[in-house]
Amino acid sequence: MYEMLSHSFSFPAITMSFKNLKLSDWALNQLNTLGLKTPTDVQLKTIPKILEGYDCIACAKTGSGKTLAFALPILEKLSQDPFGIFALVLTPTRELALQIADQFRLVGRPIGLQDAVVIGGQDMVEQGTLLQQRPHVVIATPGRLVDHLTACNTFSLKRVRFLVLDEADRLIAGRFDADLATIMAALPKRRQTLLFSATCNDTLRQLESIANNECFYYENMGEV
Ligand code: ADP
Ligand code: MG
Repeated sequence: MYEMLSHSFSFPAITMSFKNLKLSDWALNQLNTLGLKTPTDVQLKTIPKILEGYDCIACAKTGSGKTLAFALPILEKLSQDPFGIFALVLTPTRELALQIADQFRLVGRPIGLQDAVVIGGQDMVEQGTLLQQRPHVVIATPGRLVDHLTACNTFSLKRVRFLVLDEADRLIAGRFDADLATIMAALPKRRQTLLFSATCNDTLRQLESIANNECFYYENMGEV
């Protein structure tokens, strides 16, 4: 009897789709083409807040889909207002930079996304040329970006609307500090700042000081 009752009162599982996230048709179509149907939890919670203009500090496990949680709202806003370097994504390693670029390219293809990957071990001159072509998104490791900032007068970060620190805890865990300070000084104060990390600790909370807008906090260290 109890089983019957509880059964009759149970609600059908509600599956949220990307359609619930106020993304444009081009983005929904592209996600569909890529076979991505259901947003992960971090995507579901942070994308609407980022679209509304909040800064964001989000901690969620590796593999929880954090890249698209920032790439989708950035591409959505970019499609409404493309102009110069729109977003700067900083990440601690070359490999991560390349992986992030892959995801931006896949989703950003329909809007002709131009990106520049700025990492060590690759040609400075080629990267410099890319940077001068006003890419929409620059994905960089801090050291190499600082090399370009100090070497090159024709490249500016003054028009950056989104700053993303991916693997933020690792970025500020030591040797990037000086580079980060140089990069921060080159950025406009009016921007959205998005911090994503796989661990949530006090180091990450220190980063609150670089967020200028009202900040949305997301923490889910459980299963995705
Ligand atoms: P994290 O940065 O949290 O470690 P990633 O952003 O690298 O995770 O995503 C891990 C993998 O999950 C990637 O291969 C990505 O393409 C995939 N992925 C991201 N979002 C979704 C989704 N909504 N549905 C299915 N797969 C997804
Ligand atoms: Mg990641």
